[in-house]
Amino acid sequence: MPSLPRLVDRTADRPRTIVTIAGGNVRFGDGGFHTIGGPCAIEDEPQLEAAARGVRAAGGAMLRGGAYKPRTSPYDFQGLGDEGVALIAAVGRRHGLPTVVEGLAESQMPVLGAHVDMIQIGARNMQNVPLLRAAAATGLPILLKRGPSGLLDELLSAAEYVVLAGNPHVVLCERGIRSFDPETRNVLDLGGALRLKELTHLPVIVDPSHASGRRSLVEPLVLAAAAAGLDGAIVEVHPAPVTARCDASQQIEPADFARVVRKARAIRSALAAVEAERDLVIA
Ligand code: PEP
Ligand code: MN
Repeated sequence: MPSLPRLVDRTADRPRTIVTIAGGNVRFGDGGFHTIGGPCAIEDEPQLEAAARGVRAAGGAMLRGGAYKPRTSPYDFQGLGDEGVALIAAVGRRHGLPTVVEGLAESQMPVLGAHVDMIQIGARNMQNVPLLRAAAATGLPILLKRGPSGLLDELLSAAEYVVLAGNPHVVLCERGIRSFDPETRNVLDLGGALRLKELTHLPVIVDPSHASGRRSLVEPLVLAAAAAGLDGAIVEVHPAPVTARCDASQQIEPADFARVVRKARAIRSALAAVEAERDLVIA
C-alpha cells in the first residue's frame, strides 16, 4: 500500500530540503539562486576548459557537461563517454567547480560515482526505475529532470524512488514540456515549477536552454525563474556556440552567461531588500 504523504511531499512539519554539493559551497534550496553552466556535450579539453573558465569567472555554481549524450538520432554525436567524465572531473577540480553529468545507464554509475559531484537523470529517463535506484545508491546528489510529458505528480513519485532508496539529496528540474508550437523547442512550465514548490520540500530549478531551444530566450527565462523565487537554473554554455556538436542553437557564450548570473543575483538582492523593508514596516 502506498503511504501518504510521500517522503518528498511538503507537509507543515517538514523543513525545506537543502541539497549540499561537494561539501558545502553550493546549497540548493538555501534561498539563493544557483546557476549551473557548461556545454551540452563535452567535446574536447580546450572546449571544456574555456567553458569552465567562463563559468568560474561568472560566479557560476557548478560545471555541467554531457559525456553520454541521449541523442534523438543514433547518427548524431554520442559524447566522449567515460573519457568525458574523466575530463570534466579534472577541469572542474582545476577551476574549483563541482560537476554534474548525466547518467544514461546503470553501468555508468560506478564511473560517475567516482568522478562527479552530482548525477543528472535526464528527461528521457525520469521514470527509469532501475536507473533511479542505481543513481540513488551512489549517495551523490541527484538532479532529476522532468520528462517532456511528465506530470508533476509523476516527477515527484520518481523523486520518491531516490529518497526511498536512502538518498534524500534530490534537486528537481523543469526543462520544458512538449506542446504544439515549434517556435520554441519546448515550453518552460514556470507555473508548474512554482506549483512543485508548493507540493514538495525539495529544491526546484529550471533549464531554459532545453526548454526554449533558442539562445535569445535563455537570459530572460533565467531572470523570470529568479524573480519567481525558484532555486536556480542550469544553462548550456559553450565558448563557440555555433560550432557546438550538439544543441548549437541554444548554447550561450561565457560573457553572456556572466551577465545572466549577475542579473539573476541583482534580482534576488532587490527582492530580498523589499522583503526586509516589509519586515521593518510590519515590526
Ligand atoms: C541535457 O541536459 O544535456 C539534456 C539532454 O537534457 P534533457 O534530459 O532535459 O533533454
Ligand atoms: Mn543539450
